[in-house]
Amino acid sequence: MSAPAEPTLFERIAAREIPANIVAETANVIAFHDIAPKAPVHVVVTPKSGTYRDVVELAAGDPALLAELVDVARGIAADLADGDFRLVFNTGAGAGQTVFHVHAHVLAGGLEEASLG
Ligand code: 5GP
Repeated sequence: MSAPAEPTLFERIAAREIPANIVAETANVIAFHDIAPKAPVHVVVTPKSGTYRDVVELAAGDPALLAELVDVARGIAADLADGDFRLVFNTGAGAGQTVFHVHAHVLAGGLEEASLG
């Protein structure tokens, strides 16, 4: 039998073992301000469980949970900004992913200067 995996950073935040500024929570999802914000509103939205490493795994394994995560993101943008938002899933170390527990970055509030278009 293999040893149980160490809890991820975000599982420890969800369990209140590590403090974070939590802004929304459902049965399955938790959202908190990013410790190093890159936008006026920068919130991390993540499943409480670290079962899935990235959004590709999550979409294949539990699409309803992905939809719940997107709906929490929508609510955060409505509550903390004007309702418009950017949703970023860094996927893989080469794309900047540092925490291998799937999460979305909700970026909102004054993003006009940072348009991708
Ligand atoms: P990634 O680079 O994996 O897409 O995103 C991880 C994010 O988690 C980064 O934006 C980073 O600033 C944030 N982060 C890392 N450690 C902590 C922490 O302890 N608390 C909070 N609130 N955010 C964190």
